[in-house]
Order: sequence, then C-alpha cells, then structure tokens
Amino acid sequence: MPAQLIDGVALSKSLRTEIRHRAQVLSERHRAPGLAVILVGDDPASQVYVRNKVRACGEAGIVSKLDHLPRDTIQAQLLARIAMLNADENIDGILVQLPLPPHISAQAVIESIAPGKDVDGLQVASAGALLTGVRGFRPCTPLGIMKMLALTGVSLRGANAVVIGRSTSVGKPMALLLLEANATVTGCHSATRDIAVHTRAADIVIAAAGRRNILTSPMIKPGAIIIDVGINRDDQCKLCGDVEFAGAREVAGWISPVPGGVGPMTIAMLLANTVDSAEQTLLMLR
Ligand code: NAD
Repeated sequence: MPAQLIDGVALSKSLRTEIRHRAQVLSERHRAPGLAVILVGDDPASQVYVRNKVRACGEAGIVSKLDHLPRDTIQAQLLARIAMLNADENIDGILVQLPLPPHISAQAVIESIAPGKDVDGLQVASAGALLTGVRGFRPCTPLGIMKMLALTGVSLRGANAVVIGRSTSVGKPMALLLLEANATVTGCHSATRDIAVHTRAADIVIAAAGRRNILTSPMIKPGAIIIDVGINRDDQCKLCGDVEFAGAREVAGWISPVPGGVGPMTIAMLLANTVDSAEQTLLMLR
C-alpha cells in the first residue's frame, strides 16, 4: 500500500484558521499583529517567497509591511532600517529574506533585530533558547515539520530519526526539536560516509540537503515517515524535493510531497510566531 500523504497545504490551512482567529482577538483587544518583511535585491526565488509571505499575512489578519530595497543597499542602511522597525510599536516581527547580497553580513543583520521580534528564530539567542529548552522563537521550517509529524499520530518517543543536512536554519534546529521530543537522533551531512546505513534503520527521515534524489526507496525502512524539505528542479525544470518520491512512496508509511509539503507549513509557522510575539507584547502591556 502506498504511503499516506502528509498534506502541508491542508494542515497549514487549518492552522491558519486558528492563527486568523488569534489575530482577530488581538485586533479587538489591542491592534492587529504586524510583520515587517525586508527584501534586498531582485533574486527571483526570494521575490516569490516574499510575495507568498505577504499574501499569507493578509489572509491571516496580520498587517505586513514590505520593504523592497535595491541590491546595492549598504549594510549600514539596512541596519538603520531595522533599528526603526525595532522601535516601531506596531511591528511584532521582522523577517529579512535570505540570502542577502554578498556585501552584507547576514549574521550581523539578523543579530540587529530586537530579540522579541526575531520571528524567524535565527538569532544566536533564539538558537540558545532552543538548545536550553527555554521559551523563544523556534525556526519556522523545523517547527512546521514537528506539526507534520504530530499529524501522523506516530509517537516520537524512542523513535530513530535521521536528519540529512545540518544548516543553522533547518538541519540543526530540526535535530534539537526531535531530541526534545525524545527521539533518538542521527545527523547526516556532506561528510557522512554512508547515509543509507543510517536511513535504513530510521523510523523518521527528514531530508534537508537541497540535493535531488538524496533519498531513494532502497534507503528507506518500510513504514517510515519521510519529510522532504528540499527544493530542487528536475530535468523538466519542475519543482521537486530531495526524495525520489514515486519509489519512496511505495516503501514509506507516511511521506510529504514537494510542492505542497513543508513549504506551506514554514509560512504558517512564521504567522504563528508573529501572533505569539503580538500576544506576548499585549501581556507585557497589561
Ligand atoms: P544549506 O545549503 O544551508 O544546507 C544543506 C545541508 O545539507 C548542509 O548541512 C550539508 O552538509 C548537507 N548536504 C549537502 N550535500 C549533501 C550530501 N550530498 N549528502 C548529505 N548531506 C549533504 O540548505 P538549507 O537552508 O538547510 O536547505 C536545505 C534544502 O531545503 C534546500 O533545498 C532549501 O531550498 C530547502 N528549504 C526549504 C524550505 C521550505 O520551506 N520548503 C525551507 C528552508 C529550506
């Protein structure tokens, strides 16, 4: 029997209904939540991502403010803009779309965001909060994946989980969230000798390498949960993930597609973090 589909579109839709309700309550009690989105340059993929985020804000009752800055914006200008947004009482979250042009330090820019507005969860302080298990913004992609795993109803306690990829925004925080949920976690990456040895024993595989076909059916334990984070293009230039989907679907128990899997969940978690931030602000005002 083919694997059950983990439908990120449907799941994100129901989460967004909840988020819209919370945003509505905030609007009635105080003001609508606000998200500032900053895009520097004209990278086509980034423009699509930003457009989707802004649209999702509108649908959820979150006020978004888009700053589209030219590619030759200097770092000091960007930092000055962020300082203004940090001081803006109507803004609960600030998202700087990555990648930034090479003359700008992404780390310096991310660190300049007020910690209470780091809704992407990429600051050192947010990473530290995740590591130590204290309250803080969690990075949106791994957070969304935890919701997808919850949807399967499969217990993570003691499960063998393999994360392929170790980036600071996806792979590493993913491994920490799984660890926090009592999974037994293995991290695979570009220097791993034999990824299949690990994935064949895994109840859960999160493929986040950005490499097409990094996970194929002989590498999968029957019944396993497969979450595909990758965004690649196939030979026909169509969007595809890291997992060889057709074959994997015949072996896995659950599988997320690309598109329509992790992507919509990442956006939903950005909205959720923004509403969390606005609720936190309201609590502090009372
Ligand atoms: P990244 O390039 O920062 O990190 C990739 C990681 O994969 C690295 O840690 C590297 O060690 C590992 N890797 C690379 N080649 C490998 C190989 N051959 N074998 C094993 N490991 C290998 O990328 P990222 O930002 O973590 O994103 C990963 C993928 O997920 C990309 O395709 C990206 O576009 C996609 N992504 C999707 C979403 C979404 O919302 N759908 C969000 C973030 C990232």
